[in-house]
Amino acid sequence: MNIGVLALQGDFAEHITMLNHLGVEADEIRLPGQLDSLDGLIIPGGESTTIGKLAEDFKLMEPLRAFGKSRAIWGTCAGAIFLSKDVRRHQPLLGIMDITVERNAFGRQVDSFEADLTIPDLGEGSRYHAIFIRAPIIESVQDDARVISTLPDGRIVAALQGKLLATSFHPELTRDTRFHQYFLSLAK
Ligand code: GLN
Repeated sequence: MNIGVLALQGDFAEHITMLNHLGVEADEIRLPGQLDSLDGLIIPGGESTTIGKLAEDFKLMEPLRAFGKSRAIWGTCAGAIFLSKDVRRHQPLLGIMDITVERNAFGRQVDSFEADLTIPDLGEGSRYHAIFIRAPIIESVQDDARVISTLPDGRIVAALQGKLLATSFHPELTRDTRFHQYFLSLAK
């Protein structure tokens, strides 16, 4: 299986390390032509405005939208923001997931936190320890998108729409490979 990680900005290296642990080679993706051979793409955490502006500069916006019509994409944190349809402010978005997102919903960098979630899609032992860094909240999901995890207070932190996956948190910063395995099963 060929998996790529969008490597314009953010913590793409951590995703590649995680995939390598699972025995999957992963390429750093910066150019539209590199998408052709991929089965799935991860868009990392970082700064969504920067990722969006660089994606425009690198002429990646339309190729990424086309990619997401048939192949798997997983956005973590800034990547999830970039996949969304609406963030209630002006910035470049792919707009391919039917989710509305609020950026920096928990406050500033110092308000980063960890939380235990329940994620039934991960199968047995569906408890999951998640890391949130200046994280967004998925305010709502529409149409074909569905919620796959919430915080105990009900706020949405992960959603799935076909092969498109969005998480507010950062599985690549843990030692728990289940989320990457889950994504590989979507990309297959
Ligand atoms: N706060 C960042 C943004 O709005 C996302 C942070 C992250 O990816 N950890 O783009």
